[in-house]
Amino acid sequence: MTMTTPTGGLEGAAMLVTGGGSGIGLGCATRFARDGAHVTICGRTEDRLVAAVEQIRAATSTDATIQYAVADVTEEDSVVAAVAAAASITGTLDGVVACAGGSETLGPITTMEVGAWRRTIDLNITGTMLTIKHAAPIMAKAGSGSIVGISSIASSNVHPWFGAYGPGKAGIDHVCQLAAIELGASGVRVNAIRPGLVDTELVGFVTAGGEVLDDYLACMPLGRVGAVEDIAALARFLVGPDSTWITGQLINADGGHQLSRGPDYRSIVEPIYGADALRGLT
Ligand code: NDP
Repeated sequence: MTMTTPTGGLEGAAMLVTGGGSGIGLGCATRFARDGAHVTICGRTEDRLVAAVEQIRAATSTDATIQYAVADVTEEDSVVAAVAAAASITGTLDGVVACAGGSETLGPITTMEVGAWRRTIDLNITGTMLTIKHAAPIMAKAGSGSIVGISSIASSNVHPWFGAYGPGKAGIDHVCQLAAIELGASGVRVNAIRPGLVDTELVGFVTAGGEVLDDYLACMPLGRVGAVEDIAALARFLVGPDSTWITGQLINADGGHQLSRGPDYRSIVEPIYGADALRGLT
């Protein structure tokens, strides 16, 4: 049976997607635009954002505004400006996906480079916190709004040798739950999605194939790598009107991977660091 998703339902809504220039963020932005929303994407690289806006327009037949703001989510002024740009279209903000994230660390904790650790924690936790900090007051004033953090399977299932990424994503979970409790009284909802392995540039070194990919697939009951549309569909549900009694949830979209253990990165990290380093002998 072929199933098609009906389009529409977000007409007149204003959405902001951080990290919307590529991968999962671009998938979410495209889905929201397809469903009629005004969409603002942000990221650090203007060329990438320009290309993404063109891609969204080409994939949709919307009359709504599709725009970008160059912004680094770890810099507060730049988050303030991106949020203001997103809210300027309709005077308010209905949905935000805090998708900007990633990692500079891969390797044993005993070899951790502190600068890379701090930047990874900052990007994921501080970036999400600043996005919520500046988007939520606009939503609170309107009495409604939905914010979606992008966490990871690396939060629900510990990934050995994955450095600051898992702790950073666990921090996102906690920030989202903190905000959900504080903002509920103003009708603002905050949830997080924990994607499993999704086919994007970020994880190209895994999805290209090999033992680590095989291990991911063995850990997933549904046995396939995710597509950005899998995550966008859940984000669409969370920012839309069908989820208005849902807040504070950390939802895995991972082919069922959370039922197993974290993936085994030994075949990638052992050739770099040596077997002894993987058990703390540096
Ligand atoms: P991408 O690398 O394609 O997306 C990351 C985006 O974030 C890029 O567009 C990047 O643009 C932007 N970005 C990075 N740093 C900043 C910053 N400081 N300020 C603003 N924007 C920034 O990877 P994915 O789409 O895979 O990742 C998206 C999110 O999903 C991340 O949070 C990632 O951790 C999470 N995730 C991904 C999984 C996967 O398997 N792909 C699994 C679980 C979670 P630019 O560099 O131009 O700023």
